[in-house]
Formats: sequence, C-alpha cells, structure tokens
Amino acid sequence: MEQNPIRIAEILLGLKDVNLIGVEDLGDEDSKTPLRVHIECLGERPKCPVCNGMSYSKGSSLVELIDLQSFGRPVRLIWHKRRWVCKDETCIAPSWSDVDTRIAAPRLKLTDRAARFATRVVGRDGRSVSSVARELDCDWHTINDAVIAYGTPLVEDPNRFGEVRALGLDETLFYREGRYRTQKWSTSIVDVMSATLLDVVPGKGGAEPKKWIASQPREWRDDIKWGTLDLAGSYRAVFKEALPNAVLVADPFHLIKIANTRLDETRRRVQQNILGHRGRGGDPLYRIRRLLNMAKEKLTEGANDKLTRFLEAGDPDNEVATSWRAKESLRELYTYRDPDLARDHLDALISDFTDNQRPPEVQLLGRTLKSWHDEILAWHRSFVTNGPTESMNNLIKRIKRIAFGMTNFANFRIRVLLSAGKPDWSLLATVTPVTTHISSALGS
Ligand SMILES: [Zn+2]
Repeated sequence: MEQNPIRIAEILLGLKDVNLIGVEDLGDEDSKTPLRVHIECLGERPKCPVCNGMSYSKGSSLVELIDLQSFGRPVRLIWHKRRWVCKDETCIAPSWSDVDTRIAAPRLKLTDRAARFATRVVGRDGRSVSSVARELDCDWHTINDAVIAYGTPLVEDPNRFGEVRALGLDETLFYREGRYRTQKWSTSIVDVMSATLLDVVPGKGGAEPKKWIASQPREWRDDIKWGTLDLAGSYRAVFKEALPNAVLVADPFHLIKIANTRLDETRRRVQQNILGHRGRGGDPLYRIRRLLNMAKEKLTEGANDKLTRFLEAGDPDNEVATSWRAKESLRELYTYRDPDLARDHLDALISDFTDNQRPPEVQLLGRTLKSWHDEILAWHRSFVTNGPTESMNNLIKRIKRIAFGMTNFANFRIRVLLSAGKPDWSLLATVTPVTTHISSALGS
C-alpha cells in the first residue's frame, strides 16, 4: 500500500514529482460538487530566465483546473503555483510562476489529461461539447477551447492526407449571423475517392478554393487526375485555372436531377395549359408527380399502370411522356461501361432532344447535355462522382447542429476537419496544443 503523497499523486494523477497536498470536499453527501485535489510541483528551484542566477520563492497562487471525473464526481485540480523572483536586485527579470505543461497547457482551464480526453471524444467519437461540459461540470467554451487547442496540430499535420486522384468542391451554409441572419458560406474541398475532407475555406465563390489548390505542392497538384462537378458551373473555372491537367467529370446524380427538374417543368406547363391552374389534388398529372420522378425500374406494376393511365388522362399531346422518356433514356447512359458506346448513346440523345419538335424543356435538356458533353462522358472513364462531397456536407451539417454557437470560421474548420478530415488519432497523446486562439488568460 502506498502512503507517500508523491507516489499517490503519481498513481492517481499520473504525474511525477508532484506533491499531493490534500483532498477537499466542499459538497454534502452524494452532491455533484467537485472534489478538490490540491497539488504542488516539486523539483529544483528554477534559475532566473534572464540572468540564469538564483531565485527565491515569493509565495504561491492557486490555479483551479478542471480534471476528469473521479469516483463518480467531477474533480478540480488545485495547483499551488509557486511564484519566483530573481535574487539579483539589479536583474530586470519580472517574477514568474511554475510552468508544467504536463499538468495543463498555458491558458487552458482543463488539465492536459482532461483536454486530450475532450478532444478525442468530441473530435473522433462525435460527442457534443455540451455533453462533455456537463460530465466535467464546466461551461461549453472551456471544452471547445481545449478541443480546438489540441485538435489544431492534428488537423495541421502535414501528413494528414497524401496523394489525391479526384477532387470535389461543394459549398455549405455554415452559420447565419446577426440581426438579419446573414448567411455565411464555406466551401469543402474533398478527396472523392477516399471520401476525406481535405479542407474547408471561407466563402462560396471560386477564389478561395483556387488559392487553396495553388498553395499545395506542385507534385500534389499534378497527381490530381479528375475534378468532379455538380453542373452548377461555379467550379468549372476553378479547375480549369488551378488544375489545368485534371479532366472534369459531370456528376451523374446532378445530371439526372436536372432531367427531373425539366420533367417537372413540362408537367406544370401542360397542367396549366389544360386546367388553367396549378396542380391540385385531383389533377391526373399532379397525382403522378412523384411517380414521374422515380426510376422506372423501381416502379411496382401498379404504379406503372397508374402512370400510364394518368398520362393518358392528362397529357393529350404526349409532352410529359416525352419528357419522362428523355429522363429515362438519360439514366440509361449510366448503364454503359464502355466509353465509346456511351458516347454514341449521348450523341444520339443530344440530336433527339434538340429536335425542335420536342417539348421546350426537353430541348433545353439537350442543350445542357451538349454543353457538358465531354464532362458527362468523362464519368465513363473515371467512375467518380461528387457524392462523397455531398455526404461530407451532410456530416458538416450534423457537426454544426451539435456545435451550435460555433460562429468563428477558424474553430469551425478545426472541428469539421477533426471529424471528417481523417486525422491520425495516434498523434493525440503527444501533440503540443496550440493555445493562441484563447483570449481568456488564466495567469502564465
Ligand atoms: Zn535574474
């Protein structure tokens, strides 16, 4: 059995050369009041940092740190920090106090041990900051500060991501600010093959992603073979300028979505022409609006019959049916695995859709296919989609929800990259926290 307080501190707190002064319990029975564990650093009398001469102790001040729960109770580590003064009266050194980063990083209110715990469970395991704050009996900012401080070196680790072959870009709304809830956007930069969030940059234009790509090493940029596009056109220029050798790939899902939008427009126009009003519950076309958008092979026999019957009833000139077939034959493009056959199919679609006998919405779809011809066909050589970029954005939205109140872009970036940027978590035990972002100084 160990009765030496220095050895007890080593066993219970994992800290060498620390004296356990005593334990203080200010709570009543089964209260949630934190246990207060008083410690002080041992070790040699420090040398003056300026003249390297002798120093003397000028009392100590108490620093209260939030530690991990113990024995089912929240814990405060009360660090009796000694103050030191240079013995040489002519020395310009101001007094200083004990520094021991094994106990806590400067400026953080959490012990080193509690801070690494918080970073792991929030960043890696997806726990909310507020649930950890409840467990350790402190406020949201205290935990968030620690997660950012210890998470920053993990995110900035130069080996966090290596070679990337296919890049995707997408914008997310990251918060609304102020009285008018002004929208703030961020753009995600994603490795779509490994579904890794490489980084997020502020804003939604092309300027920031372009800057980010340009700041990467030349060899890294040269390895990128594909760039995925959602067909909004906003990132086409970014890729063309920042990665001129990358081949652009139009995302299949977005293309099908566009075809479905054109189909909806055809249906609404025909409905309006025939009935003189917008869709209502009893209108045949309105009643099949969802079936029209579904993939043909997913329709049950009953649904298929319903589609045929209601089209007969509500689509006298076969315009909706034509628009529906256009959507389905575009979907067929993605059943081809041979790039040459795919090209033949796409070229046939374009000449068919752009025929001036077709409904105007189908002609418009044909023109879209024409202007994205090469990007659409690039899919049959790359088989990459923008899907991972968008699932990344869903993940970001989820993090936003559990981290409400996170309005600072730099902190937002660290948080999402901890969750989606695949940091090397084995480094957490040894990283040096970055505390420059913390404004609330807690003594030196
Ligand atoms: Zn001195």
